[in-house]
Amino acid sequence: AFQSVPLAPPDAILNLNTLYKADTYPKKINVGVGAYRDEDGKPWVLPVVKKAECAIVEDASLDHEYLPIDGLRTFTDASAKLILGKNSPAVLENRFGGIQTISGSGAVRLGADFLNRWRKAPVYISNPTWGNHHDIFRDAGLDVHTYPYWNPEVRGLALKGMLDTIKGAPKGSIFVLHPCAHNPTGVDPTPDEWKLIAEAIRAGAHFPFFDCAYQGFASGDLDKDAAAVRYFVEEGFELLVAQSYSKNIGLYGERTGCLTIVTKSADLVPNVRSQMCKLQRASISNPPAFGARIVSMILNDEQLFAEWTQQLKIMANRIIHMRTVLFALLTELGTPGTWNHIVDQIGMFTFTGLNAAQVKVLRDTYHIYLTDNGRISMAGLNTHNIRTFAEAVDFVVRN
Ligand code: PMP
Repeated sequence: AFQSVPLAPPDAILNLNTLYKADTYPKKINVGVGAYRDEDGKPWVLPVVKKAECAIVEDASLDHEYLPIDGLRTFTDASAKLILGKNSPAVLENRFGGIQTISGSGAVRLGADFLNRWRKAPVYISNPTWGNHHDIFRDAGLDVHTYPYWNPEVRGLALKGMLDTIKGAPKGSIFVLHPCAHNPTGVDPTPDEWKLIAEAIRAGAHFPFFDCAYQGFASGDLDKDAAAVRYFVEEGFELLVAQSYSKNIGLYGERTGCLTIVTKSADLVPNVRSQMCKLQRASISNPPAFGARIVSMILNDEQLFAEWTQQLKIMANRIIHMRTVLFALLTELGTPGTWNHIVDQIGMFTFTGLNAAQVKVLRDTYHIYLTDNGRISMAGLNTHNIRTFAEAVDFVVRN
């Protein structure tokens, strides 16, 4: 029955991890996968997460019953408030509803399924974007297009191309936007640029779908990283927002996320929520409990929340520091080219501008693993390996 099934290519990023693990060279460097690493290159379980976990495990009243289809309500309500802001007009007017999902990926997929069923339209994703966006929206049945985002000449935002595409798209199209720490470029629009983007989206009666995988991780400030979403809500847009707790709380494998909808009026929320529940039931039945319990505990407790924001800053600041150090090293080495984009870009990733051939030399000769598009995860760098990394980059740029 399966003779005609061809072998699918391996996932580019996860495959890089496999290659890295198989490499026995002691000084190998992994700047491929987007996961936080500490100064010693180790995963970091946030102390506040440990605390919450212990409290959950010790709570004798907790059982392993199913959560409701839409997940843990204390989690989804707190998640919506985290991204929209407690004083958001949508929150104050009760025009929002959240569904717990299988992390950010699941939130994007549920949003895509919902739009495909109830508001079908062409979807526009940024060029480039997180690779999974292409597959998720296509598999959900939507017609996928891209809008320009990266201008290689200035190593920054392709604002004009982006606005032209928004203006030229069929009326009512869906626009997927990264509110902060754009993956893979690390380039975010400024507040003024967001205004122009919002204007163009409004003019085309398009629908904004925010994919927020890095709130707090970009700048260390949860409110600042949510500013674009909040601006759109204040401007009266209806929208979807996907949230992930993989990076900012470090719950990667616990698959903890949320899809929130903001509607024009409160009476629309139950209908939308009920249809999202129908889709959720048919795909995962109901979401997993453990990660949501951890996040709910942290978001709903003032003391734990304060601890979390401190620990979030430790991660964001270490990454920002690595940007400064890498820039200083390349300057010291006199590496040809301009490298200020390393300090200008934000979040987990730097889009270095290295090409696929240079990436291959880094991998084959220097045991340094990064994606072919030249994206590096800043979290993979630390004070022990950053000089080696800079010298390798210097070599490939010169040769
Ligand atoms: N969207 C974007 C833009 C991302 O970078 C990521 C993480 N790589 C995700 C969504 C989802 O990740 P997860 O499913 O682990 O939350």
